Amino acid sequence: MKISRRELLTAGVISGAAMAAGLASGAQAGIEDTGLVGVKKSEPKKGAVLQIASQEGRIPGKDLPEKIAKMEKWDIDGLEVGGRGLEKRVTEIKSVLANSKIKMTAICAGFDGALMSDDAAIRKQCVDSMKVILTAAGELGSTGLIYVPAFNGQTKLDHIEGRKVLLDQLPELCEFASQAGTRMLLEPLNRKETWYVRLVADAAAICRDVGHPAACVMGDFYHMFVEETSDMGAFLSGGEMLRHVHLASIRRNLPGQDERDYTNGFKGLKMLGYRDFCSFECGCIGDPEVEIPKSVKFLREQWKKA
Ligand code: MG
Repeated sequence: MKISRRELLTAGVISGAAMAAGLASGAQAGIEDTGLVGVKKSEPKKGAVLQIASQEGRIPGKDLPEKIAKMEKWDIDGLEVGGRGLEKRVTEIKSVLANSKIKMTAICAGFDGALMSDDAAIRKQCVDSMKVILTAAGELGSTGLIYVPAFNGQTKLDHIEGRKVLLDQLPELCEFASQAGTRMLLEPLNRKETWYVRLVADAAAICRDVGHPAACVMGDFYHMFVEETSDMGAFLSGGEMLRHVHLASIRRNLPGQDERDYTNGFKGLKMLGYRDFCSFECGCIGDPEVEIPKSVKFLREQWKKA
């Protein structure tokens, strides 16, 4: 594999940073001991695959069966649904997916309150409602429940107090998720939405402190464009804790609808041997019936180039 000097330096800086942080995930990702020397070890791991999913709301259609039929036709692999009221939809979703090649992926939020609220009653409300969703998520074979500890305005806690509160609650929630057969997926956002966890590395460091196999992270190309210095670096810092990706352009439309390039991030996913889903969470300029299949094709080309 030919590797440019820039890529080599990036890989070296990333692996150095990962090792400095003591991230076990670095070793799991096959980038241990790389420094600037181990170029071979930063080559893509075998087995990475681009599995494209979509949030249910992104797909046009009058009901779930109609949406699923379109997703199959458009070469989409997975479905992401919202968590609110999920417990009432388990039977419906299971039966629609049973007759389809579309697989269940992550569950997007839908709980009450905020895990990092300064109000203990709101934190409890959050934990209780998360458990209901996690049970349903497990029944559906979901990758995990996507959560943000607190959006801007949802907490008065600072970083030190906020982290303590998170670490007080996450071990129990992760164990609950694990028993249910799913995971907790911490999503970093950009600063306009949350100041607390903005980098995949921040999320990974919190999950490392939790130290539970169900404590996992995800990355969102839209937020990453605002906050990360390297898409590849961001994904590598997640290592094996990276279990979901959101797809959106710079202006949060379908990939391919602006100048955003995905190849650097996809290279990172290939290095990790990533086999989980990359899911549309975005708007659309124009007719989705035309634009979604175009975006799928664009992403598969970007993956090939990466
Ligand atoms: Mg997202």
